[in-house]
Amino acid sequence: MSEAPNSSENSSKHFDELYDEIDHWEVNTGEETIHAKRMPGRFRNLKWLAASVWLVFFIGPYFRWEGRQAITFDIMGRQFHIFDITILPQDVWMLSLILLFFAILLAAVTSIAGRVYCGYFCFQTVWTDLFTWIEEKLEGKPAARRRAEKLPLSQQRLPRKILKHIIWIMIGAFTGISFTLWFGDAFEMWKAYFNNDVTMWAWGSVIVFTSFTYLFAGFMREQVCLWLCPYARIQGVMVDVDSIMPTYDFHRGEPRGRLKKGKHDADKGDCIECNQCYAVCPTGVDIRNGQQEGCITCGLCIDACDSVMDKINKPRGLVKYMSLDELNGKEQPPIYKRPRPLIYMSIMTLAAIGILYGLTHLGALELSVLHERSPLFVLQSDGSIQNKYELKILNKTHKDMKIGVRAEGHQSLTLVGADREIIAQPADTASFTVFVRIPKKELAGERESLSFKIYNLEDDKISAEYKSMFFGPRIR
Ligand code: SF4
Ligand code: SF4
Repeated sequence: MSEAPNSSENSSKHFDELYDEIDHWEVNTGEETIHAKRMPGRFRNLKWLAASVWLVFFIGPYFRWEGRQAITFDIMGRQFHIFDITILPQDVWMLSLILLFFAILLAAVTSIAGRVYCGYFCFQTVWTDLFTWIEEKLEGKPAARRRAEKLPLSQQRLPRKILKHIIWIMIGAFTGISFTLWFGDAFEMWKAYFNNDVTMWAWGSVIVFTSFTYLFAGFMREQVCLWLCPYARIQGVMVDVDSIMPTYDFHRGEPRGRLKKGKHDADKGDCIECNQCYAVCPTGVDIRNGQQEGCITCGLCIDACDSVMDKINKPRGLVKYMSLDELNGKEQPPIYKRPRPLIYMSIMTLAAIGILYGLTHLGALELSVLHERSPLFVLQSDGSIQNKYELKILNKTHKDMKIGVRAEGHQSLTLVGADREIIAQPADTASFTVFVRIPKKELAGERESLSFKIYNLEDDKISAEYKSMFFGPRIR
């Protein structure tokens, strides 16, 4: 029987293993600025294409619809206009569903492909990519920038550095101004900016956006993704062994070894230790150490490694999008067999149904009717029973509307008080009182169903209906 190791030996072995493991961790704490190399490739093109979606943010406020800005978030007027649709505070449940939909979409995408949103769409990575592109154009390639960083600032470099910071600040300011344009009329707001006639809120937003864009995209860069972004903190619970992320195929790559006299050593794996995958990484991750939290799934290391494989006549895909299960030779289950994406997609479907219902049921007019309770009814001198109602009409469009009113439900009813001109102001509620009279002898019971219908006198397709009751005396 072999002798059991004593506890101090055990703990020393444990710590040796632990330190060995820690030695292999890549934790970027921002001591050094990352100057990632730029290489052409499929994922680089895809990254630019995805980033171009952000053009909508800049040009969106200039789209017009029926003489006004197509999409406006009118905070002061407490209404959102999206083309023909006006969303008022009472429809805010729909905005909540839209937010829920996008939050769950983010979770679903993460469970399928990791931080792919970060790598391709997130404003932090997109703006950082743009800022570093400008930096490269003005201050040279990464190696030159790294060398220059170690030297005192020369008069030769100074003008380019100043120009870089001016361009960065201008991009930040343009981002801030573009943000505020969504909350008013873009053309009017530009005039107001030039005349210094915008609110303190607008100036405040521009200052905040300019400062944070300059700071985050110019200086903090990947540190925001690693240490500030809350999504980075929670994404770990959304991914699993079936999530497809950039992964180094160590079965094929190891043992790695450099080319000798341009020749590949037959005893070595396909990785030639060129470090190109590491050099292009915008977050400073060495993907050969395995899938990591700092990886924003941008695929740039795949482009880099593929170009190396092309040069040494090896098949592409030493680094590629794959899951840990795939890496370990297991079959990748289809998405519809994975519980995590399925749960996310079910929630998204429910939210989408709610949004669709809301959009198709958001009429341009809304009606609510309050029945006068005290008294419930009045007996008129002509023998008819009269009920009193207060109609509240909400016009959800951006134009005045002339309103017609009808009451239906009893063949002998008379509607009194609806023959005057009723104007509903845009995005406002109008209240007025009407009376309904029914001859007492025509009443079949103590209560009769009744409905009120309002419609736009200029376009009766725009209408709304409300079901109410008519009350009379007890019939003996
Ligand atoms: S780019 Fe490819 S070959 Fe070069 S170090 Fe990275 S994994 Fe190895
Ligand atoms: S490891 Fe590859 S995919 Fe991940 S962030 Fe770096 S370059 Fe992008």
